[in-house]
Amino acid sequence: MNYRHMETQAWQVLDRAHYLHPFTDHASLRQAGSRVAVRGEGVYVWDTEGDRIIDGLSGLGCVNIGYGRPELVKAAADQMQALSFCQSFFNTTHPSAVLLAEKLSQILPEGLNHVFFQSSGSEANETAVRAVRRYWDLAGKPERRVIIAREAAYHGSTHMAASLSGIPPMYGAGGDIPLPSVTHIKTAYQYRNGPGMDPEEFGILAASWLEERILEIGPDKVAAFFAEPAQSAGGALCPPMSYWPEIQRICKKYDILLVVDEVVCGFGRTGKWFGSFYYGIQPDIMQLGKGITSGYLPLSACILSDRVADLLIEEGGEWAHGFTYSGHPSCCAVALENIRIMEEENIVENAEKELIPYFRAKLETFVGHPLIGDVRSVGLMGGLEIVKNRVTREAYPYEAKIGYHCSGEALKRGLAFRANGDTMSLMPPLIITRQELDTVFEIAREALDATAVAFGVA
Ligand code: PMP
Repeated sequence: MNYRHMETQAWQVLDRAHYLHPFTDHASLRQAGSRVAVRGEGVYVWDTEGDRIIDGLSGLGCVNIGYGRPELVKAAADQMQALSFCQSFFNTTHPSAVLLAEKLSQILPEGLNHVFFQSSGSEANETAVRAVRRYWDLAGKPERRVIIAREAAYHGSTHMAASLSGIPPMYGAGGDIPLPSVTHIKTAYQYRNGPGMDPEEFGILAASWLEERILEIGPDKVAAFFAEPAQSAGGALCPPMSYWPEIQRICKKYDILLVVDEVVCGFGRTGKWFGSFYYGIQPDIMQLGKGITSGYLPLSACILSDRVADLLIEEGGEWAHGFTYSGHPSCCAVALENIRIMEEENIVENAEKELIPYFRAKLETFVGHPLIGDVRSVGLMGGLEIVKNRVTREAYPYEAKIGYHCSGEALKRGLAFRANGDTMSLMPPLIITRQELDTVFEIAREALDATAVAFGVA
């Protein structure tokens, strides 16, 4: 028995006994055993078996500049040495949080100038909802309570963020989630919601579902519309370019706050610094997370536009909201360094010019694959939707778990390839090379081919 194998087993035993994983079927995990990751460098992660995995997912859509950058390690350590913690509740601030808030205001769409920090994307969405509530209370319209979100959205796992998410398995059977002030509309998922239509016409139709719902509820009862620019956990659902301008127009017409969750799209995923630039969105509130630190430390931001913040600041008195780790010094220092590196090395611009057209072309080679019904992408976020019947678009039954089968096949061959339902997703780090993309797609194809064989399709 080799030593490495022993080591892995020992970790797996401890893991099984004590560690509850997010979004995991622990009974299956106990049988399979966890892969034990120990080191990362660039786009690669190594496990205790010595196997190298190419990370087609940037961790979870966060490790945008890749693993192992010493500058980020140093920024964290220097800040910890100088000031390891600082509360911002009682008349106290610190340079890293102030500088990061200023920097974000400079690089975000105009008018987004007021930054609230927390640790996760879920919390950023919680803050956004609380800001929406506070805004309408102070504006003398407390009856504006309903929040419209979308099917297949993912906004996080806390109660309100899970309610905003359009993923019924998250709700449970008790009926308390989604919270009653949240309602969901159909989304810009053309393969399922507008097959055969001209994409730009479909974008207008999909936006009209928002107006329809606003009119059903009564515009004076609607507080906000929450949406990701493109939906990542929903399976790389990328709207046509006509969608967002129409959404913006509808929100304006009914004076509804437009709240844009850029937790995944922010920091270059679409080939622009923010998805709002890519799609031409002017949000009233924006949430950021993940790529803000390239995943080196947990940090998220909820940014309020002048319109929202001015009322909160001038009329609101104390806003009874905040977290111990709001503006944590090391997290903010790492975010600043991460943004500095991204700017200095032109990481977003390079991804847009050098990588994205290549990534899209590679994805499109899967059109016609016997398992693939739809191929879609925006920037470095791509999805290959597996279907049972490519003509009728019939999906595999949920119990078949074909997506999980495919991600298992990919992992065996050294690629992290995610199943969002039956859509196989890729979101590689923005610093990946074309050669590394070749490897990603080579393994992705092998995994899909093996899955086709296992399911009797070939
Ligand atoms: N919003 C979006 C769009 C996300 O994809 C996620 C996480 N995948 C979240 C919010 C929640 O972020 P976190 O897991 O950091 O709470």
